[in-house]
Amino acid sequence: MNLEALLPQLLPIAIKWVETVAADAAATGRALSNPELSVASRVGVRFPERIRLRILHQFPVPEDPRLAEAARQLGLLGPNMAGLTLGYSILVREGHLSTRLLLHECRHVYQYEQAGGIAGFLSEYLRSVARVGYDDSPFEQDARAHEVE
Ligand SMILES: [Zn+2]
Repeated sequence: MNLEALLPQLLPIAIKWVETVAADAAATGRALSNPELSVASRVGVRFPERIRLRILHQFPVPEDPRLAEAARQLGLLGPNMAGLTLGYSILVREGHLSTRLLLHECRHVYQYEQAGGIAGFLSEYLRSVARVGYDDSPFEQDARAHEVE
């Protein structure tokens, strides 16, 4: 599976999936507390009050088999993933919420804001992860650099 070549086909499916999961998390999640709002502001989020935090036992997996396989190959949505940011929706696996994680995920919210939303961010983010891998993606490096408590 050559992910870079498949990306143009997968991207619209990925965007749709992310928009659906983000909307569900926005409807069921909670707003940030005051200290959490400060964390979001510290890493540059423009509209911290729009963020919704959803704690889940397990992250949802895409139904589309091609998208699920691509996510697996890219090292996304794996069992070790503690947080997942989809637009203004931050999904956190039960027992993993910490200031450090919140700093990282809120920096992704900032990245979504800079990219102009879900579609814009995903097209850049997935391309970078397909090209250089999850750990070396500039988006992940930038988020890790903001995990400073
Ligand atoms: Zn990240």
